[in-house]
Amino acid sequence: MSTVTQIPTGKTQIPTGKRRDQFPEGTNLCEHCTAKCCHYFALPIDEPVNRRDFDFIRWYLVHPGATVFVEGETWYLLVYSTCQHLQDDHRCGIYETRPQICRDYTTKECEFEDDWCYEKYFETPEQIDEYADALFGPQFPDPDRNDHDSLRSRRPTSLPLLS
Ligand code: SF4
Ligand code: SF4
Repeated sequence: MSTVTQIPTGKTQIPTGKRRDQFPEGTNLCEHCTAKCCHYFALPIDEPVNRRDFDFIRWYLVHPGATVFVEGETWYLLVYSTCQHLQDDHRCGIYETRPQICRDYTTKECEFEDDWCYEKYFETPEQIDEYADALFGPQFPDPDRNDHDSLRSRRPTSLPLLS
C-alpha cells in the first residue's frame, strides 16, 4: 500500500465480484487480493480555482498513469504506479520495514471490492480541459471555428509591418 491518503470510500457501490462480507469472519482479505493498494499512490491537492490551476492539472494528466479525482470538497492526484517491492505472489518484499503508511492501511475500508465511483474523475488532459472550458470558456482559440459560429466578431487581422 502506498497512499499518502486512503482513497475515500464513501462512494456509490456497484456490485461486482465477491464482496468482503461473503468471506467468513476473520478472513485475511489480503490473501484473496492482488494487492490493489500497492499499485498506486494518491495525495490531496489544492482545489483548482482558476485557469492556471486547471492548467497545472492538465500538466499532471499529460503523464501516463496520472489521474485526478474529487471526493467531497477534496481533490486528489492519483498516480497508478506499482511499488517496486511488490512481489509476484502479491506480497510485500519489505514487509518488516515497509513504510508507516503501508502499516497504517487496513482492510477495513480498503479498495478490496474495487467497485466505487468517484464524484469526479479525470483521466485525460482533454477531460480536465473540457471541464475548465465549461467554467471559464475556451483556453485556446479553435482554429477550425467559423466566424459565423461566434456571436462576437473575430479580432481583425493586424496590418502588415513595413520593413
Ligand atoms: S512497501 Fe510493501 S506494502 Fe507498501 S506499497 Fe510496497 S509492496 Fe505494498
Ligand atoms: S489492504 Fe485491501 S487492497 Fe490492500 S492488499 Fe489487502 S485486501 Fe487488497
